Amino acid sequence: MNSPTPNDPVIREATIHVTVESFTYDAEKLIELAGRTAYKSFNRMSEESARPFIRRIVASGHESVIEHASATFRISGISRACSHQLVRHRIASFTQESQRYVKQNNMAVVIPESIRADPERSRVYHTCIADMAKAYDTLLQMGTIPEDARFLLPNASATTVVMTANFREWRHFLEVRGDPHAQWEIRKVAIYIRNALYAIAPAVFEDYRVIENPQTGDKWIVRMAASDGTGST
Ligand SMILES: Cc1cc2nc3c(=O)[nH]c(=O)nc-3n(C[C@H](O)[C@H](O)[C@H](O)COP(=O)(O)OP(=O)(O)OC[C@H]3O[C@@H](n4cnc5c(N)ncnc54)[C@H](O)[C@@H]3O)c2cc1C
Repeated sequence: MNSPTPNDPVIREATIHVTVESFTYDAEKLIELAGRTAYKSFNRMSEESARPFIRRIVASGHESVIEHASATFRISGISRACSHQLVRHRIASFTQESQRYVKQNNMAVVIPESIRADPERSRVYHTCIADMAKAYDTLLQMGTIPEDARFLLPNASATTVVMTANFREWRHFLEVRGDPHAQWEIRKVAIYIRNALYAIAPAVFEDYRVIENPQTGDKWIVRMAASDGTGST
């Protein structure tokens, strides 16, 4: 590749941001209210009754009750490779930034650590991305519509997804995407989401804990067999 010129497209490195857009108000109370319908035990409700009730519900596997609460996250700075994994979760709802309608000039890309850490791999990666971004830009300048020029864009392209799911589906998501077998990028997303959900409804999510390997800094999520109610990570 030739040296970049001032007219070459700008390429930025993306970083993951996960923000809470919305969640069910007083979620734990709502879950208790719904769940006690099954047992007609409203007389046992008090200021402190929701959490122990939810712990029993979750431990018994009666998870349909927690479907009454939901949360919405804005997940940005992830790769299209990662968003493709996200949207496999059929019970969730999604809205994603469109490459048909939004031109990808000044594009941002995700750079895997295994590539960043190695100068030669890093050089190959950056060269390819820069060539691709230049070709994309050239196609647009030739009058190609973005929905056709986007066929050149790589899996590394950063994207934004808004994802809504009920608490049962979020638990399933944490289970499979926080697992050490899940890819590092979606695992990072799962850890952000676990921590936000724990702040929203601790009794629902406290059995999912974030574990860190102190040697490598690698993090993943494990489900504790029985909740001790502390929920700390
Ligand atoms: C480590 C890992 C590796 C993977 N590798 C691959 C791969 O190589 N190739 C690939 O294609 N995918 C792969 N996947 C994606 C995986 O196959 C699922 O598509 C993804 O994890 C979504 O999970 P899900 O279908 O359980 O969840 P969701 O779609 O979120 O559904 C939640 C739950 O609802 C129920 N459900 C949803 N829809 C149905 C239905 N139609 N019928 C019956 N029950 C339903 C199931 O109990 C399901 O677990 C991988 C996932 C992981 C975590």
